[in-house]
Amino acid sequence: HATLGVLGGGQLGRMFVHAAQALGYRCVVLDPDESSPAGAVAHDHVRADYLDAQALEDLARRCDAITTEFENVPARALEQLARTRVVAPGAAAVAVCQDRAREKAHFDASGVPCAPYAVLRGTADLAAVPDTLLPGILKTARLGYDGKGQRRVADRAQLTAAFDELGRVDCVLEQMLPLALELSVLVARGADGQVQTYPVQQNLHRDGILAVTEVPAPQVDAAMQAQARQSAAAIAAGLGYVGVLCVEFFVLKDGRLVVNEMAPRPHNSGHYTMDACDVSQFEMQVRAMAGLPLREPRLHSPVVMLNLLGDLWFDADGRERAPDWAGVLAIPGAELHLYGKTEARHGRKMGHLNVIGASADEARDNARRACALLGLPATW
Ligand code: ATP
Ligand code: MG
Ligand code: MG
Repeated sequence: HATLGVLGGGQLGRMFVHAAQALGYRCVVLDPDESSPAGAVAHDHVRADYLDAQALEDLARRCDAITTEFENVPARALEQLARTRVVAPGAAAVAVCQDRAREKAHFDASGVPCAPYAVLRGTADLAAVPDTLLPGILKTARLGYDGKGQRRVADRAQLTAAFDELGRVDCVLEQMLPLALELSVLVARGADGQVQTYPVQQNLHRDGILAVTEVPAPQVDAAMQAQARQSAAAIAAGLGYVGVLCVEFFVLKDGRLVVNEMAPRPHNSGHYTMDACDVSQFEMQVRAMAGLPLREPRLHSPVVMLNLLGDLWFDADGRERAPDWAGVLAIPGAELHLYGKTEARHGRKMGHLNVIGASADEARDNARRACALLGLPATW
C-alpha cells in the first residue's frame, strides 16, 4: 500500500483523503486537534503540532508523498519533510502564497496584471502611499482569509487608523477596483511540468465568504476564459508549483481581467469538480503528488455549488434547527457533501451542495429550489 500524508485535518483534507482512498492509497493526517474532519476518515490521525520535529519525521517515514490542506502551514514543516519525501506543493511556492507582498511580486513577474498596490512594512511607509491607491483596501500580508484582516479605507486618515487597528503588521494596500464579477481557476501542475486547468468558476461572495459558484461561468466569454486559464497556468509554472493551485480573478467593469490572490491547495470554489467533472480537484491533487497522469479534466455537466454555512442550522430566533436534507436530496442533480463537523457556528463551513443539470438553466432552477428549502437567498 502506498501512503499519502496530509498536514491539516479540515474539510479539504477530508475530501482529499476520500479521493486518495478511492485510488487505493492509505492516508495519514497530522493535525493537533483531538478530532478533525480529515482525521476521522484517515487510516491514522497523528495529533501533534505542525512544528513537532519528531512527529514530522515519523510522518515522512510512513508516507510516500505529503501534501497540505491549509494555506498557513508553516513553511518550515514542509522544508523538513522535503528533505526525505516528495512534498507537493513545495515550501517555496507555499511561502509565496502566504505573503501578499510576495504573491503580488510574483503576479508582476508572471506578466499577469493585479490591482495597483503598495507594501506597508511600518508607519514610515504610510506617507509614501500615492493618492491613486485611495480609496483602497488594506490587507494584512499574512494570515487573512474570508475577508478577515482587511479594512476598506477611503482616505489617508482611515488608512492610518486601519494600519494601527491591524496591529501595524506588514500589509498591502490595494486600490479599490470597480468589480463586475469574480472568477477563479484551478490549475494542476505535475513535477514533470505538465499543466492542466479546469473550466473557469464564477463566484459570488456574501459577507466576505464564498456563497455560490457557477460553472460554466455565465457572464464570461470564451476569450476571457482562455485568458484566465492561461494566466493561472503561467502563475503556477513560474512558481515551479506541483499540485493543485487556485487563482482568484476579478473582472472589472471596463472588461479587464485582474488577478486577485491564490491559494496553494484545492479550493472551496473548486468543490463543483466533485460532481461536475470527471476528475475532481482532490483526485487531481493526488495525481500530481503521486506522479500520476494529469489528464485534461472535463466538465460533464453545468453546475451550481452552494456553500452550506453554520447559519443554516439556526432559525431567525437563533434556535438550532435541522436543515431539510431529505427535501434537498429529492431534487434532481443535487449532491450533498457534509464535512462531519459536530458544532454549527455562524459563518462556519459545514458542507456544500453541488447541483448539476443537463443544462445551465436546469442546474440553476434546481439550485434555486434547494435555496428555497434551506432558507438561502435564491438570487445570484
Ligand atoms: P479568501 O477567503 O478568498 O482567501 P481573503 O480574505 O484572502 O479571501 P481577498 O480575496 O483578497 O480576501 O478579498 C476578499 C474580497 O474582497 C474579494 O473576493 C473581493 O470581493 C473584495 N476585494 C478584494 N480586493 C479588492 C480590490 N482591490 N478591489 C475591490 N474589491 C476587492
Ligand atoms: Mg485569501
Ligand atoms: Mg479571496
